[in-house]
Amino acid sequence: LGIDCDYEPTGNVAAAVSPAQLRTARKKADMFQKAGVHVEFGDGRDLGLPDAFLGGMLEPRGGVMDPGKFALGLREALLASGARVFEQTAVQAVEPTRAGVIVSVPRGHVRAAQVVLTTNAYSRDLAIAPKRLAAPIWCSMVETEPIPPERLTATGWTSRSGIATQHNIMESFRLTRRNTIVTGVRQLQAARGTVGARKPDPEIVADITQGFRARFPSLRDLAIERAWGGWIAMTPSWLPVAGQATRNISYLIACNGHGLAQAPYLGTLLADRVAGDKAHDNLATVWRMRPRFAPSPAFNAPVMRAMWALDRRADRKVS
Ligand SMILES: Cc1cc2nc3c(=O)[nH]c(=O)nc-3n(C[C@H](O)[C@H](O)[C@H](O)COP(=O)(O)OP(=O)(O)OC[C@H]3O[C@@H](n4cnc5c(N)ncnc54)[C@H](O)[C@@H]3O)c2cc1C
Repeated sequence: LGIDCDYEPTGNVAAAVSPAQLRTARKKADMFQKAGVHVEFGDGRDLGLPDAFLGGMLEPRGGVMDPGKFALGLREALLASGARVFEQTAVQAVEPTRAGVIVSVPRGHVRAAQVVLTTNAYSRDLAIAPKRLAAPIWCSMVETEPIPPERLTATGWTSRSGIATQHNIMESFRLTRRNTIVTGVRQLQAARGTVGARKPDPEIVADITQGFRARFPSLRDLAIERAWGGWIAMTPSWLPVAGQATRNISYLIACNGHGLAQAPYLGTLLADRVAGDKAHDNLATVWRMRPRFAPSPAFNAPVMRAMWALDRRADRKVS
């Protein structure tokens, strides 16, 4: 669609901040290479990473982008397509009937022959969605003020590749076109009750900021300009799930926090299936024959807190 979303084809690095993480990255690289995926394992300096990163696994395909601009670009394309769009309209119920599916919204309803649920982490609030489809998890990000070019060069981050650490719960880092750094995650929060709007927790923002300063000591003085967060949907297999809730209601959700490329890609495959055009092998990989899902005990608050504590203990050993 040619969307201008500040895309930079820098590749992404599964990077290590400790010898143990380096071994993990090495294992991952071996595994991917055996599976025929093009990845390279390298030293941090060869990969053009900031000084605190010892090395890691570079996946050269892909890169970094501004997800907000991407989403707005998709919206423009959708509006230009002639599809009828009802924005700011919460779906309250989706009910299969003999005459098709009825989608109810606060001031009316829509009748449809086929419905696709792409409600991701919010799916459990819809009665039609299979139970335990995915665990809604909140994750937070922060962004620094712009960094002067000479200070950025001095960090050693010459490749501008996206970076994710090998902690139990990753830290991620990317540069923007404005030369700010966007960093986040480190801690995940489980949903209590309805999955609704919320703001990042100040304690988590402080923790992410501390993580940023530990990885970029020469940029400790940079101000954090903003913080935000959002809901992602996690599954025990760490794979998205797609299938049918009923004969004419399909679902496609839970890209496990990695959906910027996956969600639109799988969406095109599901669109082909719904239109009856084509069956795709890659959709079959995530397709569930029966809408039954096991609980995912890893995604509850005490377990995620324990993973965070283990990560910080490992960090202390390194420092
Ligand atoms: C902080 C954060 C950082 C991330 N970082 C990355 C990253 O670096 N790389 C990456 O690939 N991915 C990342 N992700 C994940 C990525 O954003 C998601 O995987 C992707 O957005 C999933 O797309 P989706 O369309 O499936 O779901 P979503 O983007 O969650 O969209 C679901 C939509 O359904 C709507 N909806 C839900 N219920 C209803 C209802 N009842 N009625 C009407 N509308 C409804 C919601 O309003 C929402 O717009 C990140 C996510 C977060 C929150």
